[in-house]
Amino acid sequence: MRRLILIAALAAVLVLPESAAADEVDPGLLWMDGRLSDLTEGSVVPEPSYSAQDTSPVQRAEQNGSFIVTYKGAFPEDAKTAFQYALDTWSRYLDVTVPIRVEANWKVLGAGKLGTAGPTKLLSGFPGAPSGHWYPIALANQIAGTDLDAKSVDITSNFASTQKSFYFGTDGRTPRGKFDFVSVVMHEIGHGLGLTGTADVVGTNGTIGSPPKYTASAIYDVFVVNSNAKPLFGGFKTKTPELKQALTSGGLFWYGANGVAATPGTAPRLFAPTTWSDSSVYHLDEETFAAGSADSLMSPMLDDEESQHRVGPVIRGILSDIGWTLAPVAPAYLYFLDVPAGTQPGELLLTQPRVAVLNGRGYTVAEDNETVITLSLVGTGGDAALSCDGGLVKTAKEGLAKYTGCRIEGTGMGLRVVAWAEGLTSAESPPFVVIRRGNFRGLTAGVSRDE
Ligand SMILES: [Zn+2]
Repeated sequence: MRRLILIAALAAVLVLPESAAADEVDPGLLWMDGRLSDLTEGSVVPEPSYSAQDTSPVQRAEQNGSFIVTYKGAFPEDAKTAFQYALDTWSRYLDVTVPIRVEANWKVLGAGKLGTAGPTKLLSGFPGAPSGHWYPIALANQIAGTDLDAKSVDITSNFASTQKSFYFGTDGRTPRGKFDFVSVVMHEIGHGLGLTGTADVVGTNGTIGSPPKYTASAIYDVFVVNSNAKPLFGGFKTKTPELKQALTSGGLFWYGANGVAATPGTAPRLFAPTTWSDSSVYHLDEETFAAGSADSLMSPMLDDEESQHRVGPVIRGILSDIGWTLAPVAPAYLYFLDVPAGTQPGELLLTQPRVAVLNGRGYTVAEDNETVITLSLVGTGGDAALSCDGGLVKTAKEGLAKYTGCRIEGTGMGLRVVAWAEGLTSAESPPFVVIRRGNFRGLTAGVSRDE
């Protein structure tokens, strides 16, 4: 088994917005991972609100999902397809009103790294800010209801151009020896949305919070506690060995209410190896959230063959705790992905029905393995009757019910196949006819002609 690292190594610039009073928040710049040598001088002041030329990308985002991506470098076409699939999948989970701009770079990364990503900025003091802490710009934009820095992308992400073992398929059937690119992209976008912060270890000291006063921190940081439920930010002095000890204790947990609610009886364990690493704090614990578990997306390692295309309940809880509004995931209605269509009496339907369980935003509820779906045939005239292999009642599997062997005995006009489930809005196919072959002649000719 091969195992490679997914990290949030990108530095984030803390930016003081124009609207914030300078003495209320800690201005200045902060880079994660302590790579201060990368620092560029000066802070950028964002210009709030849309300009007219933003209309087009906004419309595009509304049509295509919540993200607008810009590719840089020699991004392979099949990698772009997988990338868009990952963004579309994330769109299912988030209630996004201001499109999220993502820059995707195809470039050389360090050995063993598949991808890195982070917010381009953390903002504080913006309109509607829920606290004095720093928010990733993609989130700050949603809270403010406007693009706080229209000139800037919100998330920068990098993917290993020299990696020969990426699997670019979108079906999650990653072959042995390959690394699922969709999973990598979804993971990195998770960092850009907010699984990131300021905690670091420098020499013998741990640090957390934004310099110079350390009275505020990245919003994620304020929910991180040790095994005694003592918060790392506020509960420990920054730049101390005690904080380093906590950061490398092996016992860090998420203490936000929504994240905790997703792990009844305990709190979500964060990745906190006894040797500080780039991946510490801003991932879920690798062992607790191992490959195959619902929240493995945000564990720090990806095995070959592993794929995770879902945002699990703990990750959704964390996003909710830091301020994201999530899309409703409850099933709301049924939809024919493959629309049943007519045929000859007794022969298979031309299209076999495939029914999706959708949430209120029109996305398949991939977690749904419960909804019981019943097909029926309605129509006028004739003696048509529908049957399918295994019957007309199916329980959704991962939000889908796929019927096979469906056929209609007898004939009928204006027939519709209806998919029904208790409490959900039904789906109904367009009308079709089932009629004996010989009778098609004369029916298809709309105009009589002399021959
Ligand atoms: Zn990561």
